[in-house]
Amino acid sequence: MGEFVFVSGRLCLDLAGTKLWRRSLHTELLKAPDDLRRWIHEAQIVDDPGSMDVRALERVRRLREAIYTLVSSWPPDRHADAKDALADVNEAARLPLPKHQLDASGHLVRSGSVDEILAAVARDAVDLVSSADFQRMKECANPECTRLFVDLSRAGARRWCGMAECGNRQKVARHRKRKKQEAATDTAA
Ligand SMILES: [Zn+2]
Repeated sequence: MGEFVFVSGRLCLDLAGTKLWRRSLHTELLKAPDDLRRWIHEAQIVDDPGSMDVRALERVRRLREAIYTLVSSWPPDRHADAKDALADVNEAARLPLPKHQLDASGHLVRSGSVDEILAAVARDAVDLVSSADFQRMKECANPECTRLFVDLSRAGARRWCGMAECGNRQKVARHRKRKKQEAATDTAA
């Protein structure tokens, strides 16, 4: 519970990040339809996604993998998988987008079902790859992590996805190493 994070700077990359450690453990965060319902709610795509079923879960996971393949192996002319991924993402991007309505107190009311949710995420992927932000997409510097994000910092120096287990652990490791080196130098002196 509460394991979803939104640190990628893009909806489509946050969805890709619901599968963790893609080169090693392949940890799936969208295990059941209710995980999907919670993710959609936390991602604020629609206000109340209602209950999700296994079919919806399969469709979202399929789009997620298509997005990951597309952005991580761009351009598609060099990878057969990426061509299929491009077709899948474009297909989902043709679906109707979530409805945005205004209520009498001026609040945004977002509604839609699985099609609209797929469309919102696919459209974000289409917008990302076709924009200048795509040049700023990076993989977390923790080689195990595999989380993708768009580095919107002015200096373009962001290296970590922002999760405690990445940047912090590396910082702690570096700090320990430095202490050890200092201790070694002290002993030598
Ligand atoms: Zn990371």
